[in-house]
Amino acid sequence: METVVCKFGGTSVANAAQVAKVGEIVRGDPRRRIVVVSAPGKRHSGDRKITDLLFLCHQLAANDVDFSAPFEVIANRFQHMAAQLGVDGIADESLAELRGGIAAGQSEDWVASRGEHLSARILAAHLGARFIETADLLGIDLHGLPTAESYARLATALAGDDVCVVPGYYGVGPDGGVKVFSRGGSDITGAVVARAVNAAVYENWTDVSGFMMADPRIVPHARPMREVTYAELRELSYMGASVLHDEAIFPVREAGIPIHIKNTNATEDPGTLVTATRDHTRNPVVGVAGKATFTVICLAKALMNKEIGFGRRLLGILETHGINWEHTPTGIDSMSVVISDEELGDQADELTQQMRMELQPDYLAVDRDLALISVVGLGMSHQVGIAGRCFGALARSKVNVRMISQGVNELSIIVGTSRADFEAAVRALYDAFVSGGE
Ligand code: ASP
Repeated sequence: METVVCKFGGTSVANAAQVAKVGEIVRGDPRRRIVVVSAPGKRHSGDRKITDLLFLCHQLAANDVDFSAPFEVIANRFQHMAAQLGVDGIADESLAELRGGIAAGQSEDWVASRGEHLSARILAAHLGARFIETADLLGIDLHGLPTAESYARLATALAGDDVCVVPGYYGVGPDGGVKVFSRGGSDITGAVVARAVNAAVYENWTDVSGFMMADPRIVPHARPMREVTYAELRELSYMGASVLHDEAIFPVREAGIPIHIKNTNATEDPGTLVTATRDHTRNPVVGVAGKATFTVICLAKALMNKEIGFGRRLLGILETHGINWEHTPTGIDSMSVVISDEELGDQADELTQQMRMELQPDYLAVDRDLALISVVGLGMSHQVGIAGRCFGALARSKVNVRMISQGVNELSIIVGTSRADFEAAVRALYDAFVSGGE
């Protein structure tokens, strides 16, 4: 029989009632043999995630401050959950070990990983399933990426036909101690496990019915995507449309395993299927995403086009400051670099000083008023008229376009506008391609 790996996020295991739903979902399909689980997340908007509380405990202990208040919140949540699910006592030993570990100065990663550990132990007991300890199976390298050896080790441990529960987010680091992925990393664990067992599909269960075609805070009538390709999803996630951890795509993409985003609280909803290709004839565009927080540094210099190495030196300055840039629009004697505000931080003055000194530009300006919006879709490639529709819609909404970028793969058109026009631009682009579509 085919194997389905299903990963449940923090809100799907936030309390006993949610865990009971997870149980029903897993039992609802015999192919769902491997279950990867996050730590309990928020039960309501004002709530705290278990992982955040664990980081807090570690920080307090590291500063010799009493950590019992947040620890009690954690312990109560797990104990209450276990009791309500009829698996009382299952968390006690791990909780005692956790308290002792925090007090004894265990590493931050070890402490942070315990949310997933306890969550998986409780779910395994609830399902009558096998708990799999990933601390000696899933290797995480110095860059926080899964190691190649992990796959064979996981495949061996997960062999059989019984249901297995795997804690997400953590594994073993290069020094042999517990190491965690970046935040939200249980998605990566799910992808690695799916690839290790060559799953038919990687189901990622969350609290939304798939990827929205635009941010619903800006476009309230936005619909979920039924299908999207891995490559389209990459384009959208770089613009901040994230339901799934960025790095979770790669392990399954290489193996051609589809990812199915599903809603634990609305199991009948079709969700979003992420695959290698899709039929894009009806929906050339899958989504519109963007961020209003970019800065552009613009340099001009007479005869820049003859100055070989100008671009390299400009980007080299960014590199030495550890800054990741997004785009480099150019004219014959001008070059700009677009950088997200998060990346730039407070380094603008230092950077421009160095650029003035090393590049001797005739003109240099920093413009902090840039928003970028990306219209993404496989159907744009080799299709006449998509860009026309895009810019026509922006013009009708009186949005001034300040920058345009389209890669040769024609997967997306990126437009830059002033921050004040950001929301109007997203709405105009969404309506131009999506309303009346699908
Ligand atoms: N619990 C971890 C976090 O909150 C990892 C995860 O949920 O995927 O970031």
